[in-house]
Amino acid sequence: MNTSKTFQKRKEDFLCGHCGLAVMGNGYTNHCPRCLYSKHVDVFPGDRLAVCGGLMEPLSCEKERGQEKLIQRCIHCGMVRKNKVHEQDDFEALLELARKRVARS
Ligand SMILES: [Zn+2]
Ligand SMILES: [Zn+2]
Repeated sequence: MNTSKTFQKRKEDFLCGHCGLAVMGNGYTNHCPRCLYSKHVDVFPGDRLAVCGGLMEPLSCEKERGQEKLIQRCIHCGMVRKNKVHEQDDFEALLELARKRVARS
């Protein structure tokens, strides 16, 4: 995909690589609140050091110490990571993930 160069240096706002939503970053959000995809740009959360750039696909969600966590897997390199769920995330999309989890177990 050919993204414009002006866009690369901006940490916060990004276009969702999956559904195309323009996501307004607030310093914490690194995934799309609508489809819950993000991009593999971090080695550790927030560092933006990964060069992979693959799409991180939401696999499931789970509760960890009272906090909902999103499990995402990079469709490019296969790395799995956990991501905090944010208030603005689409509740239906989260429910969908929860349903998938139940269906698998
Ligand atoms: Zn999206
Ligand atoms: Zn990756």
